[in-house]
Amino acid sequence: MIGNLNCFVVKGGKIKVQCPDCKKVRYYAVPPNLRRKIARCGCGRTVRCTLDYRKKRRESSVAKAEVTLDTRIFRAQISDVSLVGLGFTVKGLTKPFRVGQDVTIQFKAAGGKNSMRKICIMNVTPSRVGARYTDIWLA
Ligand SMILES: [Zn+2]
Repeated sequence: MIGNLNCFVVKGGKIKVQCPDCKKVRYYAVPPNLRRKIARCGCGRTVRCTLDYRKKRRESSVAKAEVTLDTRIFRAQISDVSLVGLGFTVKGLTKPFRVGQDVTIQFKAAGGKNSMRKICIMNVTPSRVGARYTDIWLA
């Protein structure tokens, strides 16, 4: 019997599925960007899973990025990402950045896709620059 369509949030490349019949919990590895998966329990029950890659909370993720300020390009590392913005570090070079500047940041998003976002600098400390997206790109 095929079960109902259930929605699962992918965490660390895996989903956690509990069998509705025998209640056994299993973790299934899923490749990036897979939309659907059929999880088959040892008891024979099948669960159709819709995969959800939403990111609601700020996640600690270190990704390499390039920040373009006017015509200058800085190598940066993204330290944290949220739905509304991100934080990045530039080794010893946060000095050129000022609150209110509009810059462009390029980075590899989850799944390996290249992303380019327009951001506005919201705060600057010697170790981190915080910015908010200024392009409309809400998933
Ligand atoms: Zn089962």
